Amino acid sequence: MGIRIDALKCTACMACEMACGYHRDDGFAFLSSCIVPYRAKEKTDYFGVLLKEEETLVVARPEGLEINKIGEEQDPEKEADASAKPMLLREACDLCEDVEDHGPLCIQFCPVEAITLEEE
Ligand code: SF4
Ligand code: SF4
Repeated sequence: MGIRIDALKCTACMACEMACGYHRDDGFAFLSSCIVPYRAKEKTDYFGVLLKEEETLVVARPEGLEINKIGEEQDPEKEADASAKPMLLREACDLCEDVEDHGPLCIQFCPVEAITLEEE
């Protein structure tokens, strides 16, 4: 089971980042969040979402999903726009395991249903 992100639906509203920070710290602590939307500096209306998992860093881009094994060397070209916010030191997504009833907070608060829970 894991979080899946459709970057084509994302509007970079940052609700998921706030919700995840709240889950981590009981406050709106952006640096605690393991899901982070980003905007590409050189492109207009180009949004992506980064997700830190236990063993992978997922980069959901409009053109597709990129799954990077943590610890392996990354292509610097690809990393350029997604590396603005440091992710690797953050805690990994725990699927909001302690949240009862309504499931992962990032899914609850995404207004455009860009995040879903995928059974594996
Ligand atoms: S499922 Fe929970 S821990 Fe994982 S990214 Fe969403 S809010 Fe954060
Ligand atoms: S809450 Fe949804 S629309 Fe907003 S930044 Fe996160 S994935 Fe994108």
